[in-house]
Amino acid sequence: MFDIPSLDIPSLSSAGGRVRLPGSKSISNRVLLLAALSDGPTLVEDLLDSDDTRVMLAALRQLGCAIEEAGPASVRVQGLGGRLPVREAALFLGNAGTAMRPLTAALALMAASQGARFELSGVPRMHERPIGDLVDALRQLGCPVQCLQTEGYPPLRLGDGAPHPLHLNEPIRVRGDVSSQFLTALLLALPLVAQEHDVVIEVVTELISKPYIEITLNLLQRFGVRVRREGWQRFTIARGSRYASPGRIAVEADASSASYFIALGAIAPATPGTDGIVIEGVGLDSIQGDIRFVEAARLMGAEVVDEGNALRVRRDTWPLKAIDLDCNHIPDAAMTLAVMALYANGTTTLRNIASWRVKETDRIAAMAIEGRKLGATIEEGADYLRVTPPTAWKKANIHTYDDHRVAMCFSLAAFNPARLPVRIEDPKCVGKTFPDYFETLFSVCHTPAERIPVVCIDGPTASGKGTLAAELASRLGYHLLDSGALYRLVGLAAEREGLSTTEADLREPAHAERLGRLAAGLDVRFTPGKTWLEGEDVTEALRTESAGMAASRVSAVPQVRTALVDLQLQMRRLPGLVADGRDMGTVIFPGAPLKIYLTASAGQRAQRRHKQLISKGIPAILADLLADLEARDARDMNRAHAPLKPAEDAVLLDNSELDIEQSVQFVLKRWHGQQAFPVR
Ligand code: C5P
Repeated sequence: MFDIPSLDIPSLSSAGGRVRLPGSKSISNRVLLLAALSDGPTLVEDLLDSDDTRVMLAALRQLGCAIEEAGPASVRVQGLGGRLPVREAALFLGNAGTAMRPLTAALALMAASQGARFELSGVPRMHERPIGDLVDALRQLGCPVQCLQTEGYPPLRLGDGAPHPLHLNEPIRVRGDVSSQFLTALLLALPLVAQEHDVVIEVVTELISKPYIEITLNLLQRFGVRVRREGWQRFTIARGSRYASPGRIAVEADASSASYFIALGAIAPATPGTDGIVIEGVGLDSIQGDIRFVEAARLMGAEVVDEGNALRVRRDTWPLKAIDLDCNHIPDAAMTLAVMALYANGTTTLRNIASWRVKETDRIAAMAIEGRKLGATIEEGADYLRVTPPTAWKKANIHTYDDHRVAMCFSLAAFNPARLPVRIEDPKCVGKTFPDYFETLFSVCHTPAERIPVVCIDGPTASGKGTLAAELASRLGYHLLDSGALYRLVGLAAEREGLSTTEADLREPAHAERLGRLAAGLDVRFTPGKTWLEGEDVTEALRTESAGMAASRVSAVPQVRTALVDLQLQMRRLPGLVADGRDMGTVIFPGAPLKIYLTASAGQRAQRRHKQLISKGIPAILADLLADLEARDARDMNRAHAPLKPAEDAVLLDNSELDIEQSVQFVLKRWHGQQAFPVR
């Protein structure tokens, strides 16, 4: 998860490989609610772990439903059997429409029939998302429902603590042209009260997003409830309906999330040695309506093959073909078409998408504004979008409106032919449905190494490089290369093998060769905050003064340095790297776009090191530290191979008088100035 203000995606050139996508949001939240309403336990597998499902899980727990973890991406839900153990609660539902709508219906009906009172609220945007049609339907049924701020919008109060008779003999009339979630909510809730009568729902307008209703009906059936459907106008829930747990249910991978990888396969040339993109966990027989995105992607020129619970996508027609399409049946995935349209041979029109205006943000406006920043010509109508690709692409700073789909869509602009990077603001908003979206994207995207930015932080021992580099990497969302750790690892491995690291022995050519072979064959693994040598956690052992001294001696051996070059170059991975060491800017990444050379007087550095050791309870003598430090400086600067010195184009930063935050700000300012993304 990139929890940073913005993420810069370098220009990308190809893609290939396999991805496994998280579970469907729509299925996950429906299944959680159904499991909670059923009799008996349900094991839910491949559940999506995201903001929206977390909100649903928290709400269900608050309502007294016991839910326990049952392995990665699995939970066991103890169903309440339609009874309410908690009769009063205030539930916060974030911006999760798939939690707000169905919980409103289920809790309003249960509060009225069992005598309870609930308050449902969300983030400010949730309070702007209409729910009036559902409220009207629930009031017709006799449920007390109060809009606490604005009529027709959350926050809501459901029930008043007393039981109320429900009017179930008349058909319940609901509109279907603002959000299909209102009908879904009623379909999920009414089986709870269909005891004595058949219950009929009539949709009094055109019904939008029908595929989502099919998901609902399909899942109701898995939980033992059959609904008779007459066209898309009349739905009958049989008297005596009762939710029964299927025992175990697996959530399909999210078909809307798949749209980004289908588009990726259609846009990106296949990386040599790969055969396009394979998306695991979802096939063409998916119950999710957004799977029909595949048809639209094929129209634009993608080759998509069903491989049985997996899809293989390859680029076929290029440039993509412009299309004119009614997108009512794929409201969420159709946003991805707007980005594919940037790579088409003409103007693409996406029609019948008015529902975009009441989603996480006004998506028609958002796609138009952000697409124009890239240089596209975009015409926006009440219910359509018309996209003409850029003739000249522009470097853009994409605002994401707290909308996961805006962020995911525009990441695909990084394949622009002008080879411009793309900046995605607030990248963590993808957490709503796909927390690891960018990591997954980068795992299958490729680009020549020179396009992946590297920030080099070189300088002498104890200059604060390590802390500065780690902080920069975390703020930029980049990988971190602590090259000193590699030399320390060689020192440690030598010691463990009983190989001498004295300067005299290291001058022996045969001994130097042996150390070189040792360095080339290091069995090392880095995990966040930890370093492993031959499967053993050596993080602490590496930081000792003696490991530092051994590193300083072995690092003067040319065979050792050469052996470690490839390992260091391989760390240059998407979306970028911060590399700290002595020769990052001079030898390993000479073409890096930013090189910082840190300096501070030896006295200052010795004092810092002394303070650091004492604070860890390690005894240390200042004069000894200073002497060691000067010896290491001398060795680093005077060795023949890759001596410590600033690169010619390095920026010197004397941090003697600066604290860490000041140094970080200095480098970030420099970096952002150099990247020059247009200010919004
Ligand atoms: O930076 P750190 O103190 O962890 O590095 C340990 C030793 O490894 C340094 O004293 C230096 O001699 C050596 N080194 C190097 N080249 C690098 C990084 C570290 O020679 N790129």
